[in-house]
Amino acid sequence: TMASAAKDEDVQSAPTKIAVMTSGGDSAGMNAAVRSVVKMAIFRKCHAYVIREGWEGLVRGNDGFADEDDDDEVRGLMQEGDTRKSRPASPRAGARNGAQQVPTIRDSSKMVDGGEFVPTYGEGEILREGVGEAEELGLKGRYIIRVGWDDVRGWMDQGGTLIGTARCAAFRERAGRLRAARNLIACGIDALAVCGGDGSLTGADRLRGEWSSLVEELLSKGKITDTQAKRYAHLKIVGLVGSIDNDMATTDMTIGASTALARICEAVDSISSTAASHSRAFVVEVMGRHCGWLALMAGVATGADYIFVPERPPGTDDWEEEMCQVLQKHREAGKRKTIVIVSEGAIDRNLKPIKPDDIKQCLSDRLGLDTRVTTLGHTQRGGKPVAQDRVLATLQGVEAVEALLEANPDTPSYVIGIRENKITRIPLMHAVEQTQQVAKCIGEKDFKGALDLRDPEFAEGLKAFDIISRIDDDDKLPEAKRIKMGIIHVGAPAGGMNAATRTAIRFCLSRGHEPVVINNGFSGLLEDNIDVFDWLRVDNWAVRGGSELGTNRVLPDADLGGVASALQKHNIQALLMIGGFEAFMAVKIMDEKRESYPSFRIPIVAIPATISNNVPVSEFSLGSDTSLNALVDACDAIKQSASASRNRVFVVETQGGKCGYIAVMGALAAGAVLVYTPEVGIGLQQLGSDVAFLKKRFMLDVRGKSEGRLVIRNEKSSDVYTTEVITKILKEEGNKLFDSRSASLGHTLQGGVPSPLDRARATRLALRCCEFLEAQAGKGKAKCTGPDTAVVITIRGSQVEFTSAKEMAEQADMKNRRAKTAWWHELKDLVELMGGRTGLADSE
Ligand code: ATP
Repeated sequence: TMASAAKDEDVQSAPTKIAVMTSGGDSAGMNAAVRSVVKMAIFRKCHAYVIREGWEGLVRGNDGFADEDDDDEVRGLMQEGDTRKSRPASPRAGARNGAQQVPTIRDSSKMVDGGEFVPTYGEGEILREGVGEAEELGLKGRYIIRVGWDDVRGWMDQGGTLIGTARCAAFRERAGRLRAARNLIACGIDALAVCGGDGSLTGADRLRGEWSSLVEELLSKGKITDTQAKRYAHLKIVGLVGSIDNDMATTDMTIGASTALARICEAVDSISSTAASHSRAFVVEVMGRHCGWLALMAGVATGADYIFVPERPPGTDDWEEEMCQVLQKHREAGKRKTIVIVSEGAIDRNLKPIKPDDIKQCLSDRLGLDTRVTTLGHTQRGGKPVAQDRVLATLQGVEAVEALLEANPDTPSYVIGIRENKITRIPLMHAVEQTQQVAKCIGEKDFKGALDLRDPEFAEGLKAFDIISRIDDDDKLPEAKRIKMGIIHVGAPAGGMNAATRTAIRFCLSRGHEPVVINNGFSGLLEDNIDVFDWLRVDNWAVRGGSELGTNRVLPDADLGGVASALQKHNIQALLMIGGFEAFMAVKIMDEKRESYPSFRIPIVAIPATISNNVPVSEFSLGSDTSLNALVDACDAIKQSASASRNRVFVVETQGGKCGYIAVMGALAAGAVLVYTPEVGIGLQQLGSDVAFLKKRFMLDVRGKSEGRLVIRNEKSSDVYTTEVITKILKEEGNKLFDSRSASLGHTLQGGVPSPLDRARATRLALRCCEFLEAQAGKGKAKCTGPDTAVVITIRGSQVEFTSAKEMAEQADMKNRRAKTAWWHELKDLVELMGGRTGLADSE
């Protein structure tokens, strides 16, 4: 066998080999994760492998089932497929009819195991429709394959998983895992990164838990040598959570969930317009067996009317009545459409499933609504990953490799997660146990327990959804506690501004406050351009881009006295601003002038909303996710055209003012090779070595197979080295090797329809701000003088908090209108690492 053929010296001295696989249901961003693991592994001087078809590929291995004595059991299991899930499994499961059947594969002559590893960047490419060719090349039946740097090129924007996934019954049995262990050792794999759901990760943990006994058994059966047993005494494993449901406890976000949410929201947005046209009701079923994240977030983001999630069943036995009461009021208020979103795992208080057809029946019978059911099904899985999933998968892939390299026999296996904005490592088994605990809690009707296991955002989301979707008097405050709350947009428009405004207005109405809507920013306030909105008026605002109120850059110091008297005239007792750097500036100015103007002594809060994400302290602002997605879509299209014409570098110019956030994150998500930012600037020497890198890079490309490459440049990166100049330099220097073109994205970056993440974040932050204003205003009129009452809501690490304008100013680079430091600065290096620049420079 292969195992015994391996020479002992080779075994001992071989470099670390890291394999990556995808398992369970596919999700968007899995390819980005594989790409990241492969590139990072090669960068860290390891050998990179992919295992195709999940655990099934690992059990099958590379030498087939020939002359194995103990494989009958496994062989039998391989024929069954794994049908232990209630949900229809991967499309191919069940259709599988024989152990020796080789699934459709994507292979490459260069994706071969063994042989000398040549880290030239031009090595290898994927043959996208490769079955026939792969057979010709003798790769049929190979599942564990060595890959090079360029094998994963262009994977970032592909949906699903290019290395295949499957559900595998054999891996559930020890015999299957024994074969898996043997195959890993035969290929010399030291470490394994598994991207999949909780099932796949449980499998990973079992494999590691049993590892020493598996090695012992293989040794005693003579399947591996002594040296092999020693070298591979420990298996290093790390998990990446690829799952569209976002159902993994201990992490805020799983790879693929944001994309699934985007697909759902696109569908619901389109359904909304037909529903309104015909005055219909729609019941939309979305995925999520034990997790209502998709339904909840879609409900919040699309402005749906009612949701059903497994973690919080309806409060009474008569859920039909409960729902009809809410929806009846909507119709009475004049709504023409009704959208109900239901998780596939939705249940009533007695654990009886609530199915879309039950809901439809009820809406038709009791409310007389013309009702349709739409089951979104597999469309949710996929397609192009959104920016968030690409970035998340890339960052987690990098962390996964680091975790594997740092692992030792005493460290637990980790799963890579994210908490707010920090990539984390959590002991794998803890994460899996917590996840399974949710299902257990639901099964035992301990719904509070289930909710507690979700991240705080989930409970907040539910609360927000109730407040913005219900018309009732239950939450109204006593007359004396009601206030007039001013709402104003400041600065440039950004996605999510309207969703935040909608939430604020509905919050006010539900509490009995009076929302005073100020049109057209501070100039509008000075012109007395004021509105009072009712519940229905803002109904569609969750999905609207731009600024419905109108916004501009005028600050209160344009006419402090005028602003003060306008606030006084309308008796505004609390002020909510939504906008970018200007909004923060406006808070600061009003805070500083409180002594002179009593009407400024009210609680004031700003929600950062700007595509540039240049507001200090806060790691995110509304609108930047929408903008990133617009950038990534444009870059994908540009890249394609660049590939078609071959050997072309596109220099893409982005907005962002003196803040490079959009450029850096966009470059990371679009797979650009270089990025220029105002923070770092552009120098002659830098340009020279960038040109040298590009030359080398194109030289290494397989002839005739070269692809387009992207360079992203923020508009304010340099006064001298403009986009035009850089494009010309590249054209001149590229000579016969490559050509260059430029593209300026301009205002397209403001995006059309705001992304679901921006809409959901807008709702969450607006709700927090309104509660803050209510609490502060309740303390008494004209009492707000302290800095803690003139604040900006900020997301920092794992905290959403209120930061005083004073503290914000200390963290700001006022001249350049950005933060002094920001979390994403270091990601510029990662762009260059993933683009190959760093590695190529090393090889000089
Ligand atoms: P999804 O999010 O789509 O549910 P998943 O990873 O949870 O993804 P599963 O079907 O549960 O999907 O698991 C995928 C594969 O992982 C299974 O087919 C099986 O091979 C392996 N697996 C799951 N649970 C176990 C277990 N307890 N022990 C060993 N292997 C397991």
